[in-house]
Amino acid sequence: MHLKTGVKDVAKDLCYYLGVPQFLLRYSNFLKSPKLLILNYHRVCSSFKKNEYLGISAGIFEQHIRFLKDNFKMVSMQDGLRLLHAGNSGKNYAAINLDDGYMDNYLYAYPILKKYNVPATIFLITDFIGKDHIFWWDRVFNAVFSIKSGDADIDMGTNIIYSKLNDISEKIKLANRINKILANKPADEIERFVAALEKKFTSIKEITSCLMLGWKEIREMNQNGISFGSHTKTHSNLCLLKDSEALEELMDSKKVIEQNLRTENCAFCYPFGAFDERIKSLVQRAGFRHARSTLKGFNNRNSDRLTLASIGAETLSKASFLANRIAFTLMHEKE
Ligand SMILES: [Zn+2]
Repeated sequence: MHLKTGVKDVAKDLCYYLGVPQFLLRYSNFLKSPKLLILNYHRVCSSFKKNEYLGISAGIFEQHIRFLKDNFKMVSMQDGLRLLHAGNSGKNYAAINLDDGYMDNYLYAYPILKKYNVPATIFLITDFIGKDHIFWWDRVFNAVFSIKSGDADIDMGTNIIYSKLNDISEKIKLANRINKILANKPADEIERFVAALEKKFTSIKEITSCLMLGWKEIREMNQNGISFGSHTKTHSNLCLLKDSEALEELMDSKKVIEQNLRTENCAFCYPFGAFDERIKSLVQRAGFRHARSTLKGFNNRNSDRLTLASIGAETLSKASFLANRIAFTLMHEKE
């Protein structure tokens, strides 16, 4: 661990144990109108395995849930949005989102959510429900993870990324940089790049499986407080698609979820958080009333229902880090 990071982490812990973020959260809501905080996660793992990307261990996830329960009224995203108009309950609201629909959500997150009676929304990529699929961003991480420590340079055509890879956090940073660039490329280009990267680097035999949730698990969870929303059919960056292609991704995934769960008005979540005015209007045209983005912040009664803000919580490996990120976000709210 770097010295600077170490000092910062100790400061965050100190703030947390002195109750600074908790104090801010408790007293902010008496002064302002109620707010809804949406926290987004991806994978929840049995223990923190170093070769799982965007993952948090079940133990840390439980610590997060405990902290959130102590400081917020936990609601489903859609109930939270309704409650923002119902006056100030004396507490702010928080909702859990899990993106992409990994099987580990059922195995490790769901038992904790049930134990604490906390609702959540899982956003499904409908073409991969029940499949043993490894997404390209996980394949990139697996390849980067298997690079030996030291300097690495990755040729991405228009730019070459130089990195020092001495520990896992530097590998995660490199995977994040590569994935961010790839998210704006067409599918065939992504596949070519990832296949070449794997050929060059992947040497780990035992890559963690990324088995996706099936309808059996989805239905069971749906009967016990978990809602499901659409994250498109294939997790394509919608901004790169023509109107007709984007509409197909939106409408078909919505239909599959609503038919299988006999529900209506499922929510939407933008893949890679990517949207513009064109995509927002297509989301509305497809019949969605609520869509979550990766814009940072809290939501209030005036927030745009098609670009709901959230906080990414999956990389926060302690409850104190979560508490500080929430308090920091709250202090920077305009309203
Ligand atoms: Zn996603």
